[in-house]
Amino acid sequence: MKGMSRERILKEAKWKEVVVEYMGSVVKTYLRDNPIVYACPICGLDIHKPSFTSERDLFFHLVAHAKGLLDKRRKQPKRYH
Ligand SMILES: [Zn+2]
Repeated sequence: MKGMSRERILKEAKWKEVVVEYMGSVVKTYLRDNPIVYACPICGLDIHKPSFTSERDLFFHLVAHAKGLLDKRRKQPKRYH
């Protein structure tokens, strides 16, 4: 069997499933504590993926996903004024 199962990754990295709320938005993601680190539920739990030390940082990152800023670098951000 290649790779590790998701359960094993969670256990070895001590990730816990959590529901995070910020400014009225709710997202299910993963948290490690001591020190507290949140994972991005879209990027995943790989150690090389971004992680966040506050709910605010995580949500800013998720907003960037929602706007497509992280996936397609080709597109220039639009200016609205
Ligand atoms: Zn992400």
